[in-house]
Amino acid sequence: MRAVIVGGGIAGPATAMALQAVGIEPLLLDANPADRGEAGSWFTIAANGVAALDAIGALEHVRGLGVPTDRNVMVSASGRALGVIPLGSPREDGMVALSFKRTRLAAALTDLARQRGIEVRSQSRVTGASTDDRGASVTLESGETIAGDLVIGADGINSVVRSAIDPQAPTRRYMGLANFGGITESTALAESLEPGAWRLVFGRRAFFGALPTPAGDVVWFVNVPRQPVSRQERATTPPAVWQTLLADLAAADPGPFHDLITTGRLELAGDNTYDLPHVPTWHRGRLGLVGDAIHAPAPSSGQGASMALEDAVVLASCLHAATTPERAFATFEQQRRSRVERIVAEGARSSSSKTAGPVQRIVQDAILRIVFHRIATRGTQAWITDHRVTLPADVARP
Ligand SMILES: Cc1cc2nc3c(=O)[nH]c(=O)nc-3n(C[C@H](O)[C@H](O)[C@H](O)COP(=O)(O)OP(=O)(O)OC[C@H]3O[C@@H](n4cnc5c(N)ncnc54)[C@H](O)[C@@H]3O)c2cc1C
Repeated sequence: MRAVIVGGGIAGPATAMALQAVGIEPLLLDANPADRGEAGSWFTIAANGVAALDAIGALEHVRGLGVPTDRNVMVSASGRALGVIPLGSPREDGMVALSFKRTRLAAALTDLARQRGIEVRSQSRVTGASTDDRGASVTLESGETIAGDLVIGADGINSVVRSAIDPQAPTRRYMGLANFGGITESTALAESLEPGAWRLVFGRRAFFGALPTPAGDVVWFVNVPRQPVSRQERATTPPAVWQTLLADLAAADPGPFHDLITTGRLELAGDNTYDLPHVPTWHRGRLGLVGDAIHAPAPSSGQGASMALEDAVVLASCLHAATTPERAFATFEQQRRSRVERIVAEGARSSSSKTAGPVQRIVQDAILRIVFHRIATRGTQAWITDHRVTLPADVARP
């Protein structure tokens, strides 16, 4: 059986490798050039995502690119500790979670897929997809048609395959935050941060995050409550102007953020944050979806990529067990929908806690202290981070 997978982000190459493990021949298409450069943000693959990477035999290939991370340390605008959120239970080797530059993880997964003999075609933008009784196909921007037994849309939050499945499918929802990210290299400020922990600060005018790396750098981000950044504003605002604005937002708060921003390099500017809470139709005929294409949580959830990796393993298991792709897609939806929609809802709540104004923030600090204390002591995130997916027992470990 041959599967055409659209999208070479996180879900795409992971799904390609999981499908190959159960005996399906994947073809991976991505719109981008093979070398995507180093731009963009960092993210964390929590323990559930790490387990999914392990299930497809990709963990050892990518682990050296990641920064071991085991907790989020939440801090109020006044500098008071609000609580510590664990990113999952440790594996036998002690590892909990890994933080990566998003482009590096995507490139490493795609490289590994190639090494395993999977055909990967970059600069192949899909413009449409269709299905009939015998198979499914995609059309490329170039006009070429590529057919397979099934098509899987791993093409992210603005999925073309989702629209082909249901032209009325909902589109992304703006979360009220614009995201900025950067790095401050070889900085003494790293010593003010706990190794292995994201320091996350509900600042007076924005939300800040920072992670020290073993190399002595600090990776940081700022979520700014505001209207979406327009294309024109993004194109015409120089990085130095954004950096001054971000430093001003941090000036009233304690901690290293003001200095990290002024001495660092901006790598991501004015990235509007969205989610996609509910997609009514997940599949049609031999067209199916994985990852952000069906369930994009707000970045604040810290789970989008981990869920995409879980999808890869679960969909491969469903295809292995089912007699037809149509049945496999239906079982996949039954197994996944309630979990992923619950996580997206959590992400939306977490995102809205970052958009509070200065007055709300004072009241919110007291509430957040109680909330985070409860999360830390009762392990209320365990249903998310300690979830484990595996390939079927009769499948050889990739
Ligand atoms: C700022 C930020 C921070 C985040 N932090 C975290 C975090 O800490 N932890 C976490 O787990 N998640 C996080 N996420 C979410 C995570 O990045 C996504 O959930 C994850 O990347 C989804 O993977 P995906 O493969 O489904 O989609 P994507 O990564 O978006 O990949 C989609 C791919 O499809 C390709 N594509 C799109 N359209 C087409 C087309 N028409 N034809 C061909 N190819 C196409 C694109 O080029 C891309 O390569 C964050 C997201 C953002 C924006």
